[in-house]
Amino acid sequence: MKALVLEKKGVLQLRELALDEPMGPHDVRVRIHTVGICGSDVHYYQHGAIGPFVVRAPLILGHEAGGVVEAVGPAVTSLHPGDRVCMEPGVPDPDSRATRLGLYNLDPAVRFWATPPVHGCLRPTVVHPAAFTFKLPDNVSFAEGAMVEPLAVGLHAANKARLRPGDVAVVLGAGPIGMVTALAALAGGCSRVIITDVQAPKLALAASLGPVTPVDVRTESLADVVRRATDDWGADVVFEASGQPAATAQAFAVLAPGGCVVLIGMPGAPVPFDVVAAQVKEARIETIFRYAHVFPRALALLGSRRIDVRPLITDRYAFADSVAAFDYACQPRPTSVKVQIEMS
Ligand SMILES: [Zn+2]
Repeated sequence: MKALVLEKKGVLQLRELALDEPMGPHDVRVRIHTVGICGSDVHYYQHGAIGPFVVRAPLILGHEAGGVVEAVGPAVTSLHPGDRVCMEPGVPDPDSRATRLGLYNLDPAVRFWATPPVHGCLRPTVVHPAAFTFKLPDNVSFAEGAMVEPLAVGLHAANKARLRPGDVAVVLGAGPIGMVTALAALAGGCSRVIITDVQAPKLALAASLGPVTPVDVRTESLADVVRRATDDWGADVVFEASGQPAATAQAFAVLAPGGCVVLIGMPGAPVPFDVVAAQVKEARIETIFRYAHVFPRALALLGSRRIDVRPLITDRYAFADSVAAFDYACQPRPTSVKVQIEMS
């Protein structure tokens, strides 16, 4: 089949690639409609590796997808040909200790699309377990379906924060993950989200998503904004979604006593932080790795329009122009949030 293949660092091609994909009794085959480009896809293209995951053989990119069920295995009762779906791209070993504990995203044996050596979904069809394939509500488009994967990260972060109605949250970084985290925080009951970035168009877009206060950290003090918004108390939750070491280290400065910092971004190196600044607030620190058990909730929130991800889909390319889409995603305009590829 024709696929978008990362041959090695810096070399992407649309080409034929033979895949042996047997369909098991619990699997479905999905015709892919729309695929979002993730920061991790771009990182593999530019650097050929993320941490311990190194591209050593040709790899199909893409892990954010919506599509249509084409065929189902004999044991599948929940899905039928013609169903519009999106897929959770990480499939754990169902018998692993992590999976049995409900921590399937932490299963060391998880097979995650477009993480070497597992192929991604920038190709016409995929075979996938029905258990990790979710029906789209009728009013949710394929493009929105392809946004469920990044949205799941924001929802998982909101869950880990244990939000309460009326919380004030800070989101550090207004990239795609910062944006979906802001949406998840508002849907989770936050009265206000204060979001930071250094790109004015991203902050303007974030401010249009709801009760969101944008802070351009090049010209404004986040600490001042938080103080004013919270009567000098601090934010109940700080979501670190920039991956910038300086932002991560500063997260405790704007936190309320008893508050929670959720570390979402992945800094490229260890980050020193002020332990005492965290201790004097008895800060709770949470970390997340991808997500677990949130796709159905993400789809329910999209279906009811409590969350609308459509403003975040800023750029669309045809599958035939996939390489151009990736080159654009390496150097996007500041107005860009999510670049998607339409397969047909
Ligand atoms: Zn992603």
